[in-house]
Amino acid sequence: MQLKNYMEDLVWQRLDEVMVANPQACNCENCRYDIAALALNFLPPRYVVTDTGETYTRIKALESQFNIDIVTAITHALQIVSSKPHHYAGKN
Ligand SMILES: [Zn+2]
Repeated sequence: MQLKNYMEDLVWQRLDEVMVANPQACNCENCRYDIAALALNFLPPRYVVTDTGETYTRIKALESQFNIDIVTAITHALQIVSSKPHHYAGKN
């Protein structure tokens, strides 16, 4: 048995569509991780116990419940990261 913050998976699943919707934002690995981390800080953690038959149904329910919040949080994170990307930090 394992505990897992399923919100993390949901954020990674949605990240690509937010990047596509915001082509002006940098899509490098650095920025993607910064955006995912920041978005997760805006969102409530959703821990699930893995290795049980029940997990999948619970996850599906969470997914529809949080979809809009997740996209909003990622978009917000993207705007913050884009305004001050870490990959430029060494050059300033
Ligand atoms: Zn970048």
